[in-house]
Amino acid sequence: MTVHAPTLRPCAVTETNSRGRRHPEPHPGHRSQFQRDRDRIIHCGAFRRLEYKTQVFINHEGDLYRTRLTHTLEVGQIARTCALALGLNVDLVEAIALAHDLGHTPFGHAGQDALAEQMGELGGFEHNIQSLRVVDRLEARYAEFDGLNLTFETREGLLKRCPPETARQLGPVAARFVSDGQPTLEAQLVNVCDGIAYNSHDVDDGLRSGLITVDRCRQTALLGPLFDEVERAYPALDQRRTIYEVVRRMINVQVHDLIRESAARIDGSAPESVDDVRQLDAPLIAFSPDMAERHEDLKRFLFDHLYRHFRVARMVRKSQGVIRELFGVFLEEPQLMPDQPRRAAELGEQRRGLPGRARAVADYIAGMTDRFAIEEYRRIFRPEERT
Ligand code: MG
Repeated sequence: MTVHAPTLRPCAVTETNSRGRRHPEPHPGHRSQFQRDRDRIIHCGAFRRLEYKTQVFINHEGDLYRTRLTHTLEVGQIARTCALALGLNVDLVEAIALAHDLGHTPFGHAGQDALAEQMGELGGFEHNIQSLRVVDRLEARYAEFDGLNLTFETREGLLKRCPPETARQLGPVAARFVSDGQPTLEAQLVNVCDGIAYNSHDVDDGLRSGLITVDRCRQTALLGPLFDEVERAYPALDQRRTIYEVVRRMINVQVHDLIRESAARIDGSAPESVDDVRQLDAPLIAFSPDMAERHEDLKRFLFDHLYRHFRVARMVRKSQGVIRELFGVFLEEPQLMPDQPRRAAELGEQRRGLPGRARAVADYIAGMTDRFAIEEYRRIFRPEERT
């Protein structure tokens, strides 16, 4: 079967219906506006640092595990496939996918939770909001503006959750968190594909690390039938390859279900424009109820057996300690930070007092890779280390 790209749906984002960039720029010419977004993201410093940030396993645990970068590429790959099949804007989907984790802290969710805890009374911290902050402000590479000056739709797609008071400060890009609307179908798609990617690669990494077992995986509603299918077709196959065959099928069944269900929902609701989509009560990009249940069941399984495994819990404990100590010491003595974050802390404090200082410290820490955070920790707290 040949896959033909269906024409773009009327409810897909296009250059014509785009709300454009905050700072108007000439058309990129040989690229589309959304390809330009994607290219700017790939060339920014925060993107390169994803290589050394944890997904589940801390970077130095092994070279075969996913990092934030490979996770990001997998989300992009899955989302592109779905966008093409659904007649949505493939370039926009890719841009959102490549930028969706730019605001992630070192040490994965453990780092995010520790930083959120420290910033609780000081304005809060949430990695999706931080991703927007990275592309809007923190990347300082262009002469005429701060940030990457991405299109409205790419920026809007980065926000998954946002408290209403923060949403009001952020303005139109976060309007749906005030008015209870939906993001574009492209943004909805990346959100679901993020879940497909991490469920699948965490099964793969979890099995490789030995923290979860094949026997346990078989008990899940999603993986059980896939192991049966592979073993029926290839009874003599070794376990390693059996696992690969299961993981690829696992991505496939979720992608097919997502495309089928979403196409039916879009056809049923028949939104005629992006703004029609924004005004709907519920997302149109979704799994069928059966697949949604299997997907959730697997998430719960990974939560209980992988993310709470004692070895992962030890990594979590260590890394949260690093984040907490660094945050505490830099907030107390911003002069211990290098020039750029120190100046940002001074400026923040002049403008907004302690929350302004804290924001600069959070930006500095969130931008660190795992290994840089560990090195910083050593330089600050270990007398025998060079400073
Ligand atoms: Mg992600």
